[in-house]
Amino acid sequence: MDILIAGGGIGGLTAALALQRDGHRVQVCESAAQLKPLGVGINLLPHAVAVLDSLGLLPALQAMAVPTAALVFANRHGQTLYRDARGLDGGYSHPQFSIHRGDFQMMLWRTAQERLGADALHAGERVVGARQEADAVIAEIEHSDGRRSERRADLLIGADGIHSALRRQFHPQEGPPRWNGMMMWRGTTLARPFLDGRTMVQAGHRRAKFVVYPIAPPRADGLQLINWICDIRLREDGLGGGLTAPGREDWNRPGRVSDLLPTFGHWRFDWLDVPGVIQGAQQLLEWPMVDRDPLPRWRQGRITLLGDAAHPMYPIGSNGATQAIMDAQAIAQALRDHGTSDSARLEAALAAYEDERRPLCARIVEMNRQEGLDYILDMVEERAPDGFERLEDVIDPAEIDTFVRRYKAAAGHRQQPGPDAQVR
Ligand SMILES: Cc1cc2nc3c(=O)[nH]c(=O)nc-3n(C[C@H](O)[C@H](O)[C@H](O)COP(=O)(O)OP(=O)(O)OC[C@H]3O[C@@H](n4cnc5c(N)ncnc54)[C@H](O)[C@@H]3O)c2cc1C
Repeated sequence: MDILIAGGGIGGLTAALALQRDGHRVQVCESAAQLKPLGVGINLLPHAVAVLDSLGLLPALQAMAVPTAALVFANRHGQTLYRDARGLDGGYSHPQFSIHRGDFQMMLWRTAQERLGADALHAGERVVGARQEADAVIAEIEHSDGRRSERRADLLIGADGIHSALRRQFHPQEGPPRWNGMMMWRGTTLARPFLDGRTMVQAGHRRAKFVVYPIAPPRADGLQLINWICDIRLREDGLGGGLTAPGREDWNRPGRVSDLLPTFGHWRFDWLDVPGVIQGAQQLLEWPMVDRDPLPRWRQGRITLLGDAAHPMYPIGSNGATQAIMDAQAIAQALRDHGTSDSARLEAALAAYEDERRPLCARIVEMNRQEGLDYILDMVEERAPDGFERLEDVIDPAEIDTFVRRYKAAAGHRQQPGPDAQVR
């Protein structure tokens, strides 16, 4: 089958690799004229790594990423509230990887060039809309030089991110993403490894949170690339209320250190000098915490959505890239299960893909609106704003444990290998 994918991001490229492996002829249109390693750190949960492993990408990931050993919750004084072992250390079949988003996307792009053929990847082609005929879909393309053209396929997958043109075509009334009043500053700093050099920490509370994790193996000089995120709540009334974010959401909008020091300037932990890390930023970007309401339907005939185009969610719980990768595996599986020899089979496959993925992703959008795992931080801040001598005096560790397990189960974490995964 001829499949066209709009968007050469993490979801689109993973889908391209999975569908090409299954024998489909795949083409990708990416609006950027030249691909650059954009973004800062992201996390890939073990179930997503299992999918990437099934595509033969594990060695490349191991060479460039950090196999995360644990997620630690801490208060704003740096005291540990809870340590959740992750990846192989947590008994999963696969590692959890912390990785530079841009480097990861470049690796997927190069792999897709090798496997699909360089002429199957079209940089500088923005899909601006699509129309359907009885047995085909025609994508309307705007080239970076202003030319217009069309591409024909049996199936069109909209993996074109949070500002998806295909989503807008089918849901024109939707409007801009919804903002919850929180602003995120995302930076990278070269620093000495902290803790064991493989731990992700979330510290603070709902009004001010500092998230930090390494995203590359230590260098020869002992320094390591550290990713960090400062969340500051600018508007209290926005929780779930859908405010309009200050300016269009742009993943590459530069931020300023001076906006952060009034809030985080005195956060000095035994194990990390937070203002020092912030001031050492090599790169600093600003992004409002936005999502969109879950859609009642992703597919329209021979067109469907995937990744952020289908279910943009707050970047909480390491789900953004992970869920896009799970979508990629699910659509490939559905096409394998149902076949593609006629329109009815294709429709059944797209329905099966959506039935599997849409309710789960809607649930994660909703859980993240209720702050996901950050709920733990708020509970402790409320009960012990000045810190504690003994955690047990503040909260029953079993209460945290139950909460973490519930969130992870609902978000699709599984300690068993995925269908395509090998146990290792
Ligand atoms: C430049 C950039 C930087 C990011 N940085 C971070 C980060 O630091 N941390 C984080 O947590 N998340 C980041 N994200 C988001 C994160 O990558 C996604 O949440 C997640 O990986 C889901 O991936 P996706 O493929 O669905 O969407 P995306 O990764 O957003 O990919 C969408 C792709 O589609 C392309 N595109 C957009 N519109 C069209 C169109 N009409 N036609 C063709 N192509 C189109 C975009 O250029 C992009 O390559 C970033 C996204 C982008 C685009």
